[in-house]
Amino acid sequence: MSFRSKNLLVTGGCGFIGSNFIDFILKKYNQVRVINIDKLTYAGSIDNTLNFNKNSRYELIVGDILDNKLVKEVFSKYLIDGVINFAAETHVDRSIISPKDFINTNINGVYNLLSISYERWFEAPHKLKSEYKNARFHQISTDEVFGSILENSFSENSPYKPNSPYSASKASADMLVRSFNRTYGLNVTTTICSNNFGPNQHNEKFLPKLINSLKDFTSFPLYGDGKNQRDWIHVDDHCSAIELIFNEAENGEKFNVGSGLSISNIQIIKMINSLTNRNIKLSFVEDRHGHDFRYSLNCSKIKEKFKWQPKIKFESYLRELVLN
Ligand code: NAD
Repeated sequence: MSFRSKNLLVTGGCGFIGSNFIDFILKKYNQVRVINIDKLTYAGSIDNTLNFNKNSRYELIVGDILDNKLVKEVFSKYLIDGVINFAAETHVDRSIISPKDFINTNINGVYNLLSISYERWFEAPHKLKSEYKNARFHQISTDEVFGSILENSFSENSPYKPNSPYSASKASADMLVRSFNRTYGLNVTTTICSNNFGPNQHNEKFLPKLINSLKDFTSFPLYGDGKNQRDWIHVDDHCSAIELIFNEAENGEKFNVGSGLSISNIQIIKMINSLTNRNIKLSFVEDRHGHDFRYSLNCSKIKEKFKWQPKIKFESYLRELVLN
């Protein structure tokens, strides 16, 4: 399979999923150049790019996706012919305390990227038109846009019912992406993914925080009764799904991406306790406002259309993580 884009703009590539994706793409395709715009917020780190930051086909531009001038310069300088947008404010708790950054980056930032993609690819001088023939904008979305579901699973056509400022900002971004496709004909695709696990995840997130509590013998603050359920997928499986959809899906298509493994927070803690023969100390804290009880995605579309399957088992990763 050849890659759709020669000069790919990845945004947020110093974060958890973006850094894993860049590593994956640079290793797999030797003709793709990756330009990474990252603001290096608290969530981004150069350390996440150590596997590839000396690669001559990689360049980091430290900057904001909201910076119109900068993003335009990057498009012109590198002849960007594909965008995969990972950049976002992502921590739900922070979105409750301070939603403004979420509105700025996750909505206005996406609007900026979309409008520049449209301008550059549609209004390109004649000699560049063929370069941009297959140019595509891919949005990385989250299962949180659908809100909570007690039974069954959300399909790609389920209505959006976001419950936190984070999920509302991501839902808004998805709507903007759709509108640029429907109104202006911009070539877009979207993947809606469940909770990721894997290397480079920020210490504030559930799994790294849990492992740190285990290693430091500190108590872990657990929301409510810990029965909230999430579908967990390894970041490499997410990356292979993004690659597939970006390369192969039809213009305007949207795909759910998950593992089908729905597991509660307390179950994860019990799994770790049994792997280590220890009991992680817990402090039960008041439940998060608007806390979604259960997320679950129906992923039959990507499985049937592309024969995609997640490969990495949560339990094996957990074992490796706690026993090393
Ligand atoms: P992350 O918080 O680890 O990384 C986000 C990156 O974006 C950071 O490097 C940060 O510096 C950068 N960034 C933030 N604001 C920016 C701005 N204005 N301009 C440029 N860069 C900026 O996030 P993640 O967990 O890797 O998530 C990546 C994407 O995947 C997000 O869009 C998120 O909504 C989505 N997603 C994440 C998960 C998950 O489980 N982590 C699940 C589904 C979807």
